[in-house]
Amino acid sequence: MKAAMYYGPRDIRMEDVPDPRPGANDVLVRPLWNGLCGTDVHQYFEAPMTPMPLPIVIGHEFSAEVLEVGADVTRVKVGELVAVDPLWRCGSCKHCTASQTNLCFDMICHGLGAPGGGISEQTVVAADMARVAPEGVTPKQAAMVEPLSVAYHGVRQGRPQPGTTAVVFGGGPIGIGCFLALRAQGVDDVIVSEPAAVRRDALASVGAEHVLDPGDTDVAAAVAEHTKGEGADLTIDAAGVAASFTTGLAVTGRRGRFVTLAAYMEPMTYNPTDLMIREVEVVSSFSTAGEFDTVLGHMAAGEYPTESWTETVSLEDHLTAYDRLHDGSAIKVLVDVAGTP
Ligand SMILES: [Zn+2]
Ligand SMILES: [Zn+2]
Repeated sequence: MKAAMYYGPRDIRMEDVPDPRPGANDVLVRPLWNGLCGTDVHQYFEAPMTPMPLPIVIGHEFSAEVLEVGADVTRVKVGELVAVDPLWRCGSCKHCTASQTNLCFDMICHGLGAPGGGISEQTVVAADMARVAPEGVTPKQAAMVEPLSVAYHGVRQGRPQPGTTAVVFGGGPIGIGCFLALRAQGVDDVIVSEPAAVRRDALASVGAEHVLDPGDTDVAAAVAEHTKGEGADLTIDAAGVAASFTTGLAVTGRRGRFVTLAAYMEPMTYNPTDLMIREVEVVSSFSTAGEFDTVLGHMAAGEYPTESWTETVSLEDHLTAYDRLHDGSAIKVLVDVAGTP
């Protein structure tokens, strides 16, 4: 069977690899759609993001059809549409047993170093990684569950309460996902800061009302005015640059939470005293831990519009999408791995 093998920057090859076979607790699936994300783009242009030897099969955000189940698998059935949670975990360490599977000491991500990935004709995952999509969720939507779960986890880390005022920095897929997750968790007062017009339009298309352009708006002043000087209860940095980090900390109010939900490419500096006098909590968020079924439920209920900010590309042409993601003209690209008939 064919799989997209990553050998290094600007070197992804479609190659023949041995057919994978499922163990007793695994499922064999046929990937349908696979989303490309910032990690993939960084790998493509800069450097590997995996500790494993190259080449690796890539693709960690994907939907799939179940082709075969292992002898001990009962929860998933052949023919079902699944969203694949890409994190392999041991299941027995202290974090796995506390439902913090993202922090498992043996965690490895499918499509980022684990054997197999989503841009391939077939792949094998543990049965509990295959989350069955409810009625009403399309294969394309199911491929969006991974990044939207990352965003959902980030919002959860910020412990939103009814009446929370939230500020999100960054309007890429994770920032949009944060807006949707905040709304799904009952937070309607959300301000988003995003410099790119195409992303601000995408935010508006999913219902965001307070979208600021930091290029022409003083975001700190706007948040201060909106909150009558109190500052935000919850700030999420889904941009991961110095401007969003610094402004994000500044707009966070007393006893507020500031969630880092981005890969920062360089160290950030701040004076802890500025946070101390407001008792601001800085909270980290990494990947996902059990959010897939929740997000699938919101999707099935129609609360997660994805059509307006995603585009598709064929498997043959999918390397061209990296340039559009890199220059920011595309927000989210889904690769048609199985080839839509
Ligand atoms: Zn990703
Ligand atoms: Zn573990």
